[in-house]
Amino acid sequence: PSVPRAGELPVLPPDVDRDTFNKAIAELKESLGKEHVELNDKPLVDGWYMEHPNTHDAFHVVEQSELVSSATVYPGSTEEVQAIVRWANKFLIPVFPISMGRNLGYGGAAPRLRGSVIIDLGRRMKKVLKIDGQNATCIVEPGVTYFALYEEIQKTGLPLWIDTPDVGGGSVLGNCVDRGVGYTPYGDHFANHCGMEVVLPSGELVRTGMGALPGKNGADNPSWQAFQHAYGPSVDGIFSQSNFGIVTKMGMWLMPETEHQSYMITFPKEEDFEQIIDIIRPLALNRILGNIPQLRSVIQELAVTGKPKSHFYQGKDPVPEEVIRSHAKNMPCGDCAWVFYGTVYGPEETRKMQLDVIRQEFAKVPGSKFILPQDVPEDHYLHARVRICSGVPELRELDWLNWKPNCAHLAFSPITPTKGEDAKIVHELVTRLHKKWGFDSLPTWCVSGREMHYIAEILFDRADEDEKRRAIACMREMIAEAAAQGYGEYRTHLIFMDQIARTYGWGDQALMRLNETIKDALDPNGILAPGRAGIWPKRFRGRGFQL
Ligand code: FAD
Repeated sequence: PSVPRAGELPVLPPDVDRDTFNKAIAELKESLGKEHVELNDKPLVDGWYMEHPNTHDAFHVVEQSELVSSATVYPGSTEEVQAIVRWANKFLIPVFPISMGRNLGYGGAAPRLRGSVIIDLGRRMKKVLKIDGQNATCIVEPGVTYFALYEEIQKTGLPLWIDTPDVGGGSVLGNCVDRGVGYTPYGDHFANHCGMEVVLPSGELVRTGMGALPGKNGADNPSWQAFQHAYGPSVDGIFSQSNFGIVTKMGMWLMPETEHQSYMITFPKEEDFEQIIDIIRPLALNRILGNIPQLRSVIQELAVTGKPKSHFYQGKDPVPEEVIRSHAKNMPCGDCAWVFYGTVYGPEETRKMQLDVIRQEFAKVPGSKFILPQDVPEDHYLHARVRICSGVPELRELDWLNWKPNCAHLAFSPITPTKGEDAKIVHELVTRLHKKWGFDSLPTWCVSGREMHYIAEILFDRADEDEKRRAIACMREMIAEAAAQGYGEYRTHLIFMDQIARTYGWGDQALMRLNETIKDALDPNGILAPGRAGIWPKRFRGRGFQL
């Protein structure tokens, strides 16, 4: 497909002819104001994290022009979101909601179905609607970023923390509905949301949880952000990683500010990871590890300095282990294979008790070293972890995107139990397949208790077609091999959604049949984000849209 250029006509969604599209856009402009509807007829610009496009995937792993919208619309209120959804039903135009569209590594701002109209909720709906300092909760609109929520709380002077992912420019709501993660004790974002307001594909509006019970004189329910489950089926889950509704308001729990101490521990041998994980498990289950800690491969110590790969190694092939270690030797982490980043919380005596146990347990790995922030220079990554793990949004993590020219990433993110034997299976296949397809392997385990998110980032050059082809091949093979061993991903890029959905196929695709039943009931015209999470509405099924 050709790249839309200045003056060129936007791509059309399937089943919509140019006249119908033009008529529909004219009507949308009429109802929302023409300044709030923008055709995708300008050159596609990838920008960068803070100036990301809302027309396509800035980290395109297929042709840049493949995953593109036809237009973007900017609603200013929930009523306008409802109006857009009714408009989409009238003209059978697929729409794709984004909050900020910084979902880089998972598809950015792009729609799954080419030619869909992007509903960019973030530009105009960006209010922090409420901060409850007593019960430590807030209600946000889709356009509230981690930076914005942090600043709003700072203004109130309340002793409250947010939980932020490794980069803070994303939407609190968007990240949560995509079930993203952060690193304080509130790091499982979806587990810490409380109450939603959702526009259904029909245009109807619902409130979930206690929000369904009107407060006195029509006020918001006083317990809306206090209790998640309320009464009857708990439906919030079906609005995460789905295409069943557009979330326009969401409650989040905030963490009461507390004292904290971050630290890092290095481990000398590659094969140490099994023992490390088996040490982590009881510490996590007994809540001695205060947060969602990360166990990172040492190559990331090099990458997060922001220096390109070429600074460390001239070859095109993956950096050999001995080269990585020869550089690590001269860095604060020293010659090691793994680096564990953790944080403990609470008053000094509590932290001391936790740290004593943590040091004692990890000391069982021969050659491990315990390091505190005061032991490393001011620009060391450990200081960025101190901020992230105490709720201060950051951008430092972007530094590893300097690794290659035109660098973009794809995340392979399987879940395993917190057990060395499971970690070994996944880690071995990821290492082997990265090598086979010619990529450096940069894995991180994010441990949340009984399970670990294993995040392996494939870093590729967007201008190199061969690298892009290999990145896709590597992902597809990792997904298939992991699934054959019983491991599945928690989240993925748009182009792998179908493949991953199929791996969750127990009972002859029973779960997908349930999802499709819900989809067809809620969205009979199939207008909302067709194909997201591998769920296709009836009118698009079996027509070759699945990948
Ligand atoms: P959006 O792009 O707005 O939303 C994400 C998706 O959710 C959308 O594509 C859409 O399908 C759906 N959606 C959004 N809004 C709505 C709505 N209102 N109703 C229904 N569906 C909706 N992610 C993490 O979770 N943790 C990390 O630690 C992390 N680290 C990263 C580090 C780097 C260097 C980079 C580049 C990315 C990282 N990411 C991480 C991925 C990503 O940047 C964040 O998850 C980011 O918060 C997602 O973008 P967003 O918040 O703007 O969400």
